[in-house]
Amino acid sequence: MNFIPPVFISHGSPMLLLEPGRAGPAWRALAQELPRPQAILAVSAHWNTRMPAVSATAQPETIHDFYGFPQALYELDYPAPGAPDLAAEVATLVPGIQIDHERGLDHGAWSPLRAMYPAADIPVIQFAVMPQASAGNHYRLGRMLQPLTQRGVLVLASGGLTHNLRDMVADAADGEALPYVSEFRDWFVAALEQRDLPALLDWRRQAPHAARAHPSPEHLLPLYVALGAAGKNAVAHTAYRDSQLGALALDAFVFAADGLSKMAV
Ligand code: ZN
Repeated sequence: MNFIPPVFISHGSPMLLLEPGRAGPAWRALAQELPRPQAILAVSAHWNTRMPAVSATAQPETIHDFYGFPQALYELDYPAPGAPDLAAEVATLVPGIQIDHERGLDHGAWSPLRAMYPAADIPVIQFAVMPQASAGNHYRLGRMLQPLTQRGVLVLASGGLTHNLRDMVADAADGEALPYVSEFRDWFVAALEQRDLPALLDWRRQAPHAARAHPSPEHLLPLYVALGAAGKNAVAHTAYRDSQLGALALDAFVFAADGLSKMAV
């Protein structure tokens, strides 16, 4: 028994890699509160497929999948090893999943990982999200992955609680969220805390400003994989609450069996 609670992190702008602000230290503190994983399955908003897919690359390259940022950002890397054996295990849990032997690590994975585990010495595989599929579909994929959480694998879902790049306010102070961002966040956190799964799965219709908060769903869908992997009785704890550029809620959640201490927000 080596349970590691699944985690959802809102990875925000890639600039957090250069200027971590409050988020980087908070992600580091979160990692230190968790048991040390033997391997990490990173569910990234930035790997989009039509069918379930997992990476099995032995030495994944660092993918700099962002544009127009300072050159220093393109010189960072995250040389963690892959985990083909873990990918094979995932394939037994998710029948029919596509195994990608060449996929590297995109910034959805390595941006939080660089802060959480800077030594890059824990093997990482990636798990894709499917923008055409439902929240329920991703939740069920997470349920299939639940056994991994009992075997020392950290299911790290990386996306964003809100993600409308057109709404970003360049001069917004950190922590200053647009009103609709706060309303969406408050609804979502309440639903998580009440474990209202029907509402969470129906977020597109029920959450206020859902379409504005997520013009496309790929940054929210990783959360449902973590929620499913945590099992029926999991409790969501807010591990971090912040926002960036007005439009990006940076909330992070730990999906624990009850009893894990709440971290400072
Ligand atoms: Zn992103």
